[in-house]
Amino acid sequence: MTAVTGEPSFRQSVDLMFNRAAALMSLPPGLEEKIRVCNATYTVRFGVRLRGEIHTFTGYRSVHSEHTEPVKGGIRYAPSVNQDEVEALAALMTYKCALVEAPFGGSKGGLCIDPRQWTEEELEKITRRFAYELIKRDLIHPAQNVPAPDMGTTEREMAVIADQYARMNTADINARACVTGKPIHAGGIQGRVEATGRGVQYALQEFFRHPEDVARAKLSGTLDGKRVVVQGLGNVGYHAALFLSTEDGCKITHVIERDGAIENPDGLDIAALRDWIVQHGGVKDCPLGTYHADGARVLEAECDILIPAALEGVINMHNAAAIKAPLIIEAANGPVTAGADDILRHKGTVIIPDLYANAGGVTVSYFEWVKNLSHIRFGRMQRRQEEARHQLIVDELERISRDSSINWTLSPGFKQKYLRGAGELELVRSGLDDTMRAAYQSMREVWWGREDVTDLRTAGFLVSIDRVARAYTAKGI
Ligand code: GLU
Repeated sequence: MTAVTGEPSFRQSVDLMFNRAAALMSLPPGLEEKIRVCNATYTVRFGVRLRGEIHTFTGYRSVHSEHTEPVKGGIRYAPSVNQDEVEALAALMTYKCALVEAPFGGSKGGLCIDPRQWTEEELEKITRRFAYELIKRDLIHPAQNVPAPDMGTTEREMAVIADQYARMNTADINARACVTGKPIHAGGIQGRVEATGRGVQYALQEFFRHPEDVARAKLSGTLDGKRVVVQGLGNVGYHAALFLSTEDGCKITHVIERDGAIENPDGLDIAALRDWIVQHGGVKDCPLGTYHADGARVLEAECDILIPAALEGVINMHNAAAIKAPLIIEAANGPVTAGADDILRHKGTVIIPDLYANAGGVTVSYFEWVKNLSHIRFGRMQRRQEEARHQLIVDELERISRDSSINWTLSPGFKQKYLRGAGELELVRSGLDDTMRAAYQSMREVWWGREDVTDLRTAGFLVSIDRVARAYTAKGI
């Protein structure tokens, strides 16, 4: 929650956005309220003996909607975690999952803790205890509630959660599906770490496939050469910036971090910048560009695309009017408040909203959950068979060229590329790309198809609420 006066809280912001869309629908009486409210939030306070004394921690797991189960959503570790935030994030998970057709209700968890103040071993103890508290109440369970990483947590915490669940449910053959975002050797899936950033890239690629959509943001052409400002070089921001700069020709002109911002008009070397940040803890004194102490002001820099990839509420009623980017893609959850959203919409800024833009994480989590339940890696059965069939064609082509008078050869590299069957990583990327394209199409149809819908966020909410409403109606609620 941002401490900006006059600004609605994060949860109120999500509700306001929901209301905007719901007002354009004709839902059965009472259903709108049923969908909007958060079903339950469990608060736990638990003690862990560390450094010779007992420390008490406060954690939450919020379940927003159980129209389909399990419910899904990450666990966040940050000192600012509170009930309002966890409930807002759980609600966003409901809409996100509905939009990308991941068969989950929305949930979210949080622990009030600064993970940087504890050692790896201490964090393991804390995570194990938090997991124990949630598992014994079925708030972590392969069929009921499946967490994942979020801000401040990584695959390391997910491995601890999976292990704790297995210890408490020794005969559950599906134990590994109780959490996603695990390391590959603990039942994880290829491509999960990069997934949210990769999803941001696929979302932008899809947006730029439609010149009329690009024109609505007063831009033209392709992603190549576009000037991009990225706020937050954490897991999501880093991968999005890396892929956009190394694969799509974007220039990351500014990166905003905790201690300020760094600028390079020719485009920053993202991998080198990340290494610098890991080593030095910030961007100050980094030789890759010019340093600006006031990072927040850099959100207002001249650019083509702004990618807020850190905390919620960073674009608010105080700075929205000054934002120059014609296109914003919300890699973070809730970076634009409802008040700022109004200002930007009236200015004509196009916003690719969080419920779509950062859904890559939960999409690949879905694949991981399916992998765990099916107990087999994607591609294991098909890969060599696919390669054998491709080999047949290549052999036949080569025979024809030998036996006939036509003098042609396969282009260099073709054979190698064509013959390689898809492994798990290729399949995950293909599934993610397909998901991001399909979800964009469903939003786009509403954006272009309805005169009363002028922005992608409302379009996204309309699609999601409609899907959730149908699920409730089908259940007879
Ligand atoms: N924490 C991520 C999100 O906000 C991923 C959730 C998941 O994979 O369940 O979408």
